[in-house]
Amino acid sequence: MQKFEEMSNIFGLEDKRRNQLSEILDEEVRERDQHKCVVCDSEININVHYKIPRELRGEEHVDNLVTLCTSCHEAIKTVDKNMHIINVWKMLLKRRHWFKRG
Ligand SMILES: [Zn+2]
Repeated sequence: MQKFEEMSNIFGLEDKRRNQLSEILDEEVRERDQHKCVVCDSEININVHYKIPRELRGEEHVDNLVTLCTSCHEAIKTVDKNMHIINVWKMLLKRRHWFKRG
């Protein structure tokens, strides 16, 4: 069990490093959103979240970041996942000509 916890800690760190957000930017977003969740106004367990995810080339910029509480974050992540699929399909359809021989 101990081993498992150690491993999740390692993965947790890895994940943090991958989604590294500068402390200044993080603080700037929290300040702007008054340290509240932009969805439900909760002031507990606030995270800074990307509106457009990094995978979709979302910028690391205050305009692309919002503060969310853990529960709204979870809810939005689920929506995001579906949005990813839609956006990927849109992108593929736009680039359909790539697959055709001209
Ligand atoms: Zn919330």
